[in-house]
Amino acid sequence: MNKLEVLSQIEKAVKTCKKCRLCKGAKNAVPGEGDINSKVVFIGEAPGANEDEQGRPFVGRAGKLLDDMLRGIGLKRESVWIGNIIKHRPPENRSPMADEVRACSPYLEAQLKAINPKIIVTLGKFALEFFDKEGKISRDHGVPKKIGNFIVYPLYHPAAALRNPAVDQVLRSEFRKIKTLLSSPIELKDSGVVKKDDRQMTLL
Ligand code: URA
Repeated sequence: MNKLEVLSQIEKAVKTCKKCRLCKGAKNAVPGEGDINSKVVFIGEAPGANEDEQGRPFVGRAGKLLDDMLRGIGLKRESVWIGNIIKHRPPENRSPMADEVRACSPYLEAQLKAINPKIIVTLGKFALEFFDKEGKISRDHGVPKKIGNFIVYPLYHPAAALRNPAVDQVLRSEFRKIKTLLSSPIELKDSGVVKKDDRQMTLL
């Protein structure tokens, strides 16, 4: 199977997934979208109301800000891949529960394995902690880390930037570094980061 076939198959599985309770309250699954050959992917937490309506990631206010920041560094939304850890909207936008993450994470792991990006930009605390369970967004934002075969670049979540102008400023400034990370050969030493669990180590 080629990359496109693998990703289409994952998408199909996500759309019919009943592995956790979240599918019951959601209107649409949100598998992720974009250029599957992109060297950079953006990973958020979970779909919100707008994403649930449309079955597409980051299409609400936070998504508009993400689009704007992408444009600011000369990237079109369609030229990168955007996804979430959790593929169905949690009710009232509550935080995903541990068993929901466990159920959903094989999808993202398989997607990342197929896409094989150079850089994974995590948006917010939840996505950072998915890749680095010891991660702390207040400390680690803006600092790229080598985790397994990927460079994980943790950034604040655009929704946090919408709530707080100081966060917006930091996010915009750290966002610009993505361009440098993409264009330069990056030789980061393995950070010794503690990966989430054994299963994930096979991917990362
Ligand atoms: N917030 C997220 O984390 N993901 C989305 O897709 C939208 C908002």
